[in-house]
Amino acid sequence: MKTIVQLPDPVLRQTAAPVATSEIKGKHIKTLIEDMKKAVEHEEDAVAIAAPQLGESVRLFVVSKRVDKKYEDDLVFINPEIIRLGKNKTIMQEGCLSVRWKYGDVKRATTASVRALNVEGNEFVMNGRGLLAQIFQHEVDHLNGILFIDTAKNIEDIPPQK
Ligand code: ZN
Repeated sequence: MKTIVQLPDPVLRQTAAPVATSEIKGKHIKTLIEDMKKAVEHEEDAVAIAAPQLGESVRLFVVSKRVDKKYEDDLVFINPEIIRLGKNKTIMQEGCLSVRWKYGDVKRATTASVRALNVEGNEFVMNGRGLLAQIFQHEVDHLNGILFIDTAKNIEDIPPQK
């Protein structure tokens, strides 16, 4: 199991590089995606992870199938771009696998659309609302070196109960 990088590791503050089309099906990216899926699976409260959180500064994130019963497998977003953000914003509580165990209130658009490549290298667009929209914004922020604590209000430390 790969360890999830924690603040203040500088990789979390880098702007991640796009994945070259020729590398998408390569061993390195395949292994990275498998490691990311395992890391998310291992963290009980996790819903998504971005590549920099495993120390790899590339534009890639994975959303756990836990997010919605309708998903049979984790969702992979390579070179994702937010192409639409809803005008309605709401305060959502947020945490991060790389900022244990802080939680805070972040203002997020309630709907967001992402365009990305899948593991086959094919482009797709996914529209998210609520939690999925929040995840899209949080994960794309990671790829730009932004963490939720940069804008969060009322940050609290809530360690897990033993
Ligand atoms: Zn995060």
